[in-house]
Amino acid sequence: MTQKPEELPTHDVAGRFAAPIDQTPHEPAHWEKEADAIRLLLADKKRQIFTTDESRRVQEALDAETYWKLPYYERWIHGFSSLLKEKGVLQEAELVTEEARLRATGEDKVEDPPSHHHHHHDHDHDHDHDHDDHPYQEDDDAGIAVLSPLQLRGRAVRNLLVARGILSAEEIRAQIEAMDSRGEHLGARVVVRAWTDAAFASRLAADAGAAVEELGLSRGETVLTALFNTPAVHNLVVCTLCSCYPRSVLGRPPAWYKSRAYRARAVRDPRGVLAEFGTQLPEGTSIRVHDSNAELRYLVVPRRPAGTEGWDAAKLEQLVTRDSMIGVTEARRP
Ligand code: FE
Repeated sequence: MTQKPEELPTHDVAGRFAAPIDQTPHEPAHWEKEADAIRLLLADKKRQIFTTDESRRVQEALDAETYWKLPYYERWIHGFSSLLKEKGVLQEAELVTEEARLRATGEDKVEDPPSHHHHHHDHDHDHDHDHDDHPYQEDDDAGIAVLSPLQLRGRAVRNLLVARGILSAEEIRAQIEAMDSRGEHLGARVVVRAWTDAAFASRLAADAGAAVEELGLSRGETVLTALFNTPAVHNLVVCTLCSCYPRSVLGRPPAWYKSRAYRARAVRDPRGVLAEFGTQLPEGTSIRVHDSNAELRYLVVPRRPAGTEGWDAAKLEQLVTRDSMIGVTEARRP
């Protein structure tokens, strides 16, 4: 069942990988947030330089071993830098020149956070042996780290895009802040409103994008669908192809959501996945798995726990976790 990285396809891991899901939280570093922001801005309605599917295509064209070894956001940097060259927006030669300038000025180094060495990296390497794939290379000076080749490329791409006026530094900062400000508190507002307002729940079921806009939230640039758990059906969301996620209401996806173990197993062994997250559903409850993609995003509306009658919205929202809106858990019990 478990295959070596070089034997796994890059494009679709559904059912092909059987390792436990590493649930270690990962707080993205600044370079990761910046890569995330640049990728989203280049594909947004204003720029439309490439699509999500194109970004996947160039990442999946990597050999499988490289694909699985690279940190997640280095794969994204590879994706957008390749597409910018393919589309003639940037040239390899000017990227190389900018990278040389960054090295010459010492801008290829960053302060190494003290917690760095114990920090969980957002990629899928095998933990049984040491790969030489550390995203930073240690410099001689303590506390200074040299950017990896792809991190340096990300920085060069950013500088050239800003110099061309394709992106502004302010847009990148605003995009990072927008993602930082989003999270489970937004999704929880949607869920609690649906729990407490039947008319809203109907509108959410009919058109989730329009319904979340009623609450002042963004529908995002894709179709958003709300999936209502019932005693008969529990919903679980995955993206088997990459990491599509309802970012407009939940922010950036957690690292485990992007892992090959989750991508592979959610569709083949959903009950086993739920058990790993501590979730035991009644025998009679079936699980429906929803595979997200470049056009479709899903938000699970967990069932309202018993014993919460008369609770106000703020108190109810504390019961609605991120994981319950992905479907790996139920709402917290009071
Ligand atoms: Fe995806």
